[in-house]
Amino acid sequence: MELEGKTIIITGASSGIGAAAALLFAAEGANVVLGARRSAELEVLVERINRGSGRAVFAAGDVKDESYAEALVEIAMKEFGALDGAFNNAGIVGAIQPTPDMSVGNWNEVISVNLTAAFLAAKVQIPVMRKHGGGSIVFTSSFVGFSNGGMPGMGAYAASKAGLIGLVQSLASDHAAEGIRVNALLPGGTITPAGGEGNPDVLAFISNLHPMKRMAKAEEIAQAAVFLLSDRSSFMTGSPMIADGGMSVRLA
Ligand code: NAP
Repeated sequence: MELEGKTIIITGASSGIGAAAALLFAAEGANVVLGARRSAELEVLVERINRGSGRAVFAAGDVKDESYAEALVEIAMKEFGALDGAFNNAGIVGAIQPTPDMSVGNWNEVISVNLTAAFLAAKVQIPVMRKHGGGSIVFTSSFVGFSNGGMPGMGAYAASKAGLIGLVQSLASDHAAEGIRVNALLPGGTITPAGGEGNPDVLAFISNLHPMKRMAKAEEIAQAAVFLLSDRSSFMTGSPMIADGGMSVRLA
């Protein structure tokens, strides 16, 4: 029980990595507060966790809204009396196309969901953690924007995910002395709706980019998040932690 008694917010919990994290964190003893826009999916997940021995609540909303970031923190405090961790994981790929063809609208949407929302989350999570003696915050970045691995047409996505690493490093150094650890998790290709699930050609293309010649299961990425949110990573902060099947060390 790596997360016993910890209260953790998970965004992007209606699907993929976030949904796997919700199940795993609850199984590891955490109280989980789940966020995403689709309430039906969140409701099913919460029922499943609470039917077992877990403790979960949800609130649906858009991570681009500051009031939603605040609401998730308020729910954690009201339901469980604490905020020990946050897995700020919601994200979108956006349109995949060469940058000269990309609309400003797409650029702004991807940056808002993937990067500005991270700023909003940190802005409201850190003061509460500071007041209660510390915590651990994890942002889901990506191999795209770090090693990139040959993924075409992802200028906005890559910029947003690389930007997250800069934000993480700044937050980590600003708040380390307050007991707040902040790390980025960089998954490689992962079998989720955003990762091409259901499309064999896309899965084969992405799998082939990895030295392991496969993509991650969402649960494998969730396991890495458990480590960053648990006390086992107590001396880690400001780290871009890679879980990418060797993508970043592959030969060209
Ligand atoms: P996914 O299954 O599509 O999940 C994305 C999640 O983000 C969903 O729960 C979605 O929920 C939520 N979300 C999207 N926009 C939102 C918004 N505006 N407000 C609130 N929630 C929003 O994809 P995934 O692969 O698990 O992605 C999780 C994270 O991993 C993302 O940050 C992604 O960039 C990153 N990542 C994925 C891969 C990969 O290969 N799959 C690789 C590296 C990094 P709703 O639609 O219900 O709002």
